[in-house]
Amino acid sequence: MSRHLTQLAKIPVTELTGVTVNKLKSLNELGIATVLDLVTMYPRKYVDRSNQKDLIHSIVGEEFLVVGEVLKVSAPRRSKSNKTVVDLIVTDGTSKLWCTFFNQPWRTKQLENEKSLAIFGKVSAFKGKLTMVNPIVDLIGNQTGKIIALYPTTERSDLTNVMISGFIHQALQRSKEFADPLSEINLRKYDLISRTEAFNNIHFPESTEMLNKARKRLAFDELLRLQMPLLAKKMRLQNLQKGFKSVAGGLEILNVKGSNLSQLTSLVGDFLRILPFELTSSQKRVIKEVLFDMAKPYPMHRLLQGDVGSGKTVVALACLIAAIENGHQGALMAPTEVLAEQHYLNIVDMTRHLKLDDLTSLFNESNFRVALLSGKLTPKLKSELLIRIEKGEINLVVGTHALISQAVRFKSLGAIVIDEQHRFGVEQRSQLLAKSSYPDTLTMTATPIPRSAAMTVFGDLDQSILDEMPHGRQIIDTFWVTKKGESRIWKKVLEEIEHDNRVFIVCPLIEDSEKISAASVAAVAEELASGPLKGINTGILHGQIPPLERQKIFEEFRSGKFKVLISTTVVEVGVDVRDATVMVILDADRFGIAQLHQLRGRVGRSEKKSYCFLLTKGSNLSDIAKGRLNALVKSNNGFELSEIDFALRGFGTLMGTRQKGRSDLKLAKLPSDEQLLLLVKEFLNKLAETDRTLEQSDLSKFLRAEVLAFHSEEDTEFLMKS
Ligand code: ADP
Ligand code: MG
Repeated sequence: MSRHLTQLAKIPVTELTGVTVNKLKSLNELGIATVLDLVTMYPRKYVDRSNQKDLIHSIVGEEFLVVGEVLKVSAPRRSKSNKTVVDLIVTDGTSKLWCTFFNQPWRTKQLENEKSLAIFGKVSAFKGKLTMVNPIVDLIGNQTGKIIALYPTTERSDLTNVMISGFIHQALQRSKEFADPLSEINLRKYDLISRTEAFNNIHFPESTEMLNKARKRLAFDELLRLQMPLLAKKMRLQNLQKGFKSVAGGLEILNVKGSNLSQLTSLVGDFLRILPFELTSSQKRVIKEVLFDMAKPYPMHRLLQGDVGSGKTVVALACLIAAIENGHQGALMAPTEVLAEQHYLNIVDMTRHLKLDDLTSLFNESNFRVALLSGKLTPKLKSELLIRIEKGEINLVVGTHALISQAVRFKSLGAIVIDEQHRFGVEQRSQLLAKSSYPDTLTMTATPIPRSAAMTVFGDLDQSILDEMPHGRQIIDTFWVTKKGESRIWKKVLEEIEHDNRVFIVCPLIEDSEKISAASVAAVAEELASGPLKGINTGILHGQIPPLERQKIFEEFRSGKFKVLISTTVVEVGVDVRDATVMVILDADRFGIAQLHQLRGRVGRSEKKSYCFLLTKGSNLSDIAKGRLNALVKSNNGFELSEIDFALRGFGTLMGTRQKGRSDLKLAKLPSDEQLLLLVKEFLNKLAETDRTLEQSDLSKFLRAEVLAFHSEEDTEFLMKS
């Protein structure tokens, strides 16, 4: 009978022969409690004996892997400088190697009874002998086979590589066949080996080729377990049949080849036709994606990624207007009051000409009504506004997330757009929304993540990408300046002020406390006022200043009363000051790539040439920090930067944020396994064709159970309930 991984999850490792109390303790330290844990503890590396080079051919100064036999181990002795030293002599049959271990007295005991070792380190020569100092040592004992798996055991524990390998061997022997979610046909179709072969070859590879196939197959399974709940969640939403069907007038025209958006009849068409610019082809594509989504009977759940300035607002409005055209209301949620107000003014301007007369059964006024639910409103005005929203007299409401948290009641909320969402917040918002009604939801983010990452983490959302800038957008010249070159920055700043342009100066958030950073903003301002920026009108902005006052300061900066604005990162998102041409970021090494790119996006918002200076003061920056700064200097493209960001930080950080506890991705690596991820999606989509809810068929049940065995209840609870 073939084994399910879910069964292995229920068998404690103590069932295996030879797992003593002490060994169990060591296994537990490695995170291993069940047989499933054991067989999915993949080797951290392999020693390939078939490819082994002879020690005699090693090159002094280069790193070399020696697989050999112990000839002699010394007892710990004292060096002249009073360090403990252990000497080891090994041979691979072609030459001897003298190894020296400093401050590792335990090596003597470790190596005394070992025969075979894999030793990795830099080769030196001393008095005609080949030597290595403090090499990495792996005990391979009496393991046979051409390719030997090495496990993440700690060198000091009494659990050797040989023992782990033995336990795994035992577990695989006992399991024999693994139940496989993939049929023979699918295995062939996706060019994958069976689960049974994969588990055997990942631990005891027959050949490098089989090892690679094993890795690919098990990575496929990991991605499958990751995607399954996401697709299940998406399908559940689609099957609710609770959403609105908002069809933009004339939508069917867009199915005709050669048609374009301006042929849309009624409101969305009216809106698009009078835009003062030609839409980019990305905008056209994305607006179509959104409109077709909204015409479906279930709620849209779409993520729109677009760099700063790529023109997301037009897409947002097309979406909201489509809902309004169908007799519903729209809401636009911005992260701050400043941004909400900015959007409001902009939207009033862009929709001024829209008339709703032809569809007035719902509305007794002929105007397209936009309202700002602002924190500035008096209680009386606010309650009046809330009543009008509830009656449906307001078509489009703009506000902060007070829009949902304050339980604003809509007559019929058809679409909601969430702007400049921090990219990981999607979850909470969509859950909040789902409580009361099922509006079409478009979440917009200006901090893109790589495609494969988006597919993985936001697999439950449909994705749209604006990967194109409107014509005539300028590259923002970016410079990384060290303390030595600082005066050059202030020279440029004064020059730009001379031309009546505005300058942002951003101070790092030294700690997560607004109080402290407020102090640092004040200190920087004082320093500059008595130094390079003497006599310049300067405003100060930080989170400790109340919102209303903040807005005032911002207005004074925009209008030119202040030429310079010194602030914390409160200016990070979306604010639009067309005359701002210089962004100076102090201690830029303390910011992440996405944040730096966002900050830089505050300038270059008109045809004026703009500049960004990244100032660093320290002399010993980490390589990662240098990598970030260089990336910013080289690229103005948010998508490119996000790829670099993830290359530098690793993918795990991202997974951690949205899906805590997800540690199942051991073999799958993104973005390099993107192709595999696409296969997984294809496989699951096929399954969803016959089992719409992904819960009826045997295969769906198999996969669900397996997901639960790998991920905690807490992670999957909201996905797996049926
Ligand atoms: P973001 O994606 O950062 O929210 P916005 O929607 O605020 O970008 O657009 C940035 C600016 O570009 C706005 O002034 C907007 O009017 C303008 N814009 C948007 N689309 C186009 C286009 N296709 N051609 C020219 N300008 C455009
Ligand atoms: Mg925007």
